Amino acid sequence: MYSPGFYFDPFYLLLTFGTIALSVYASWRVKSAYGRYSQVPARSGLSGAQIAQRILDLNGIQDVSIHPIAGQLSDHYDPANKRLMLSEENYYGTNVAALGVAAHECGHAIQHQQLYAPLQWRMAAVGITTIAGQIIPFVGMGLLWLMPKIALPILAVCFGIVMLFQLVTLPVEFDATARAKRILASTGAVAPGEETAAMSRVLDAAALTYVAAFISALGTFLYYVMLLLGNNRRDE
Ligand SMILES: [Zn+2]
Repeated sequence: MYSPGFYFDPFYLLLTFGTIALSVYASWRVKSAYGRYSQVPARSGLSGAQIAQRILDLNGIQDVSIHPIAGQLSDHYDPANKRLMLSEENYYGTNVAALGVAAHECGHAIQHQQLYAPLQWRMAAVGITTIAGQIIPFVGMGLLWLMPKIALPILAVCFGIVMLFQLVTLPVEFDATARAKRILASTGAVAPGEETAAMSRVLDAAALTYVAAFISALGTFLYYVMLLLGNNRRDE
C-alpha cells in the first residue's frame, strides 16, 4: 500500500525550495543585467528592429516579418507564423541590450531557415509538451491521492516529456546566442570592447534562465521516478 505522505518528504521540500530559489535568482539576474545594460547606448545608433532587418537581409531571409510586442522581455521568434516579435523596448531601443536580444531572436530565424536539428526537435515536441503540462495538474491533484499506482507512472512520463523539452531548448538557446554574438561583431552594430562585453552579459544571463528551467525539470522528473521505484519496491 502506498501512503501519500511525500508532501512532508524533506527531499521534496529541498527540491521545491531549491528550484524556486534557482529560478528566482536566474530571473533576477537577467532583469538586473537587462536593466543595467539597456542604459548603455550603442554607438552604431541602430535600433533592435533595424539590426534585426539587417541580419535577416544578410542571411537572405525574406519571409520573416518583424513586429513590436507589449511587455518586458517578451521577445521571441514564432516559427509557425515566421514572425520575429520584439518587445517595444527592444524594437525601438538603440542600446546594446536591445541589439543583443534582437540579434538573438534573429538567431532563431536563421536556425529555422537552416533546419537546425535541435530547433526542429523542439518544434516537433511543442504539442506533446503542452498536453503533458495540462495532464500534470489534473493527475497531480486528484488521481495521485486516490490511485497513486496509476497516477505515479503518468506523472513520471509527463515530467519526463517536460524535462526533455527543456533539455532540447538548451542547444537551441545557446546556439542562437552564439550566432547573435558572431553576427553583431561582424556587422559592427555593437562595438568591440565595452559594448560587446555588456551585450554578452545580457545574453549570458538570459541563457542561465534556460539552464535553471532544465535543472528544475530534471529534479522534478527524478523525484517522481524515485517515488515510482519506491512504490513498486513496497509492493514486491
Ligand atoms: Zn531564444
